[in-house]
Amino acid sequence: MGEIDLTKPTNLLPRLRRGLGAGATEALEVVLRLAEEEGRALYLVGGGVRDLALRRGQVDVDVVGEGQVLSLAQKVAAVLGGRWVEHRAFGTVTVEGQGFRLDLAMARAERYAQPGALPKVRPASIGEDLARRDFTINAMALALCGRQSGQLLDPFDGMGDIARRVVRVLHERSFIDDATRILRAVRYETRFSFSIEEETLALLKRDLAYLDTISGARVRHELLRLLAEDRPEKGLLRCQELGVLAAIHRALRFDDELATAFRRARRAGRASPQPELYLGLLGTRLSPADAEAVTLRLALSKRQRQALEAAAALAQLLPWLSRPDVRPSQVVERLEPYPLSAVDACALLTSRSTAREKLRHYLENWYYVKPSLDGRALERLGVVRGPGMRGVLRLLKTARLDGEARSRQDEVELVQGVLAGKVELPGAESSD
Ligand code: ATP
Repeated sequence: MGEIDLTKPTNLLPRLRRGLGAGATEALEVVLRLAEEEGRALYLVGGGVRDLALRRGQVDVDVVGEGQVLSLAQKVAAVLGGRWVEHRAFGTVTVEGQGFRLDLAMARAERYAQPGALPKVRPASIGEDLARRDFTINAMALALCGRQSGQLLDPFDGMGDIARRVVRVLHERSFIDDATRILRAVRYETRFSFSIEEETLALLKRDLAYLDTISGARVRHELLRLLAEDRPEKGLLRCQELGVLAAIHRALRFDDELATAFRRARRAGRASPQPELYLGLLGTRLSPADAEAVTLRLALSKRQRQALEAAAALAQLLPWLSRPDVRPSQVVERLEPYPLSAVDACALLTSRSTAREKLRHYLENWYYVKPSLDGRALERLGVVRGPGMRGVLRLLKTARLDGEARSRQDEVELVQGVLAGKVELPGAESSD
C-alpha cells in the first residue's frame, strides 16, 4: 500500500448530511461533537462511502475510530436516550434510538492464519483498516471530524474504480484469505451493473477451490445475500458461468429457464419473494440425494432445507402430474406433505402445461378444499367417531375435489350411502 492520500476534499460530507433522516442527523451530530471533545477522528467507512459516491439512497452509517469506541458509544446512547450493544468479537458497538442506528467500530488490522479461517484481529490505524477490506470500492473512508473533516481516504483508488465501474480486490491473495469474497464480488457486480476487473477475475477463477475452506454458514450467508438482491438471477447466471456454483457443490447449477422462473416469481405479485421460493427453484434441478448434500454443505435452516429438498422431490413427480388421468384428489394426496413454497417453485418452473395447471389449481384452490360436513354433523347423521369417521371425511373431501359432491346435500347422501353399505370407503392407501 502506498502513502495514504489525504488530499482529496470531497462534497460527500454534505451529501451524507442531506441524505440522513432527522434522527440519524442528530445522532451523527452528537457522536461527532463528543469525538471532537475527545480530540479523536472518526470516519465513515465501507459501503456507506461507496453508496454516497454512487448517490444510492439511504446509506449505512458505519463509523470507525482509532482505538476503543465503547465509551464513546455509551456517551452517545446516554445523550440520545438510546440503547447500545457491544459485539466484542468484532470490536464494534451498535447504538440505536428514535429514528437512528449507528455502528461504531474500532479500526483494526486482520491476519489470516489459514485460508478461510476467521482472521486474527488487532487494533490498528484507519489505513490498515482499509487495507483489510474486500474491494477497492469498499475500501474508502470519509473523515467526519477533526482537521481532515470532509476529506476522503482512498488508498486503493476506489473512486477511480467506481468511475470505471469495476470490482477489484486489493491484493493477489484476497480470495485465498477469504473466499466468501468470490460471492461478494458477484453480488456487487450484479447490484451495480459493474464488471469484475480482469485481473481480479483471473484470481477469482484461480481461487475457486478455496470456497471449500469456507464453512456452510458463511457460504449460505453470502448466497442468501445474493438472493436478496433485486435481480438475483443475474448474479446466479454469472456464478454458473464462472464455476462458482459448482465450486460450492458439484450438483448446484443455474440456467436460463431458472432465470425466467425467478423473474416470474417476482412478477407474480410477490414484491420480494422469500428466499425459500428461490431455494425451491434451485432445488428443482437437484436429485433428492444431491438436495440433501447441498443442505449439508450450506448448513441450511429447517425451513430452507424443506424448501430445497421438497422441491427436489416434487420435481420427480412432474411426469406423473402431466398425465391427464390424474384426479385432483390424487394430486392433493401427493402434494400435501410438501411446503407450498416448493409447490410454487415447481409451478413457476415447469414447461409441462398439464402439470403446471394442476399445481396452480392446487395452490389456488384444491389445497383449501374441505367438506361442508364436519365431525359433529357426521355424528348427527349416525357416524361414530374414530377411524371410520376419518375415512368418511376423506371420502367427502375426495368427492368434493373430484366434483362428485357439489353441495352439502350431495355429501349427506354420500354419508347415507356409506351407512347403508352402498358406498365403499377408500382404503388407507393412496388410490392412484
Ligand atoms: P451492503 O451494501 O450489501 O450492505 P456493505 O458494503 O455494507 O454491503 P457489509 O457486508 O455490510 O457490506 O460489510 C461492510 C464492509 O465491511 C464492506 O463494505 C467491506 O469494506 C467490509 N467487508 C465485509 N465483508 C468483508 C470480507 N469478507 N472481506 C473483507 N472486507 C469485508
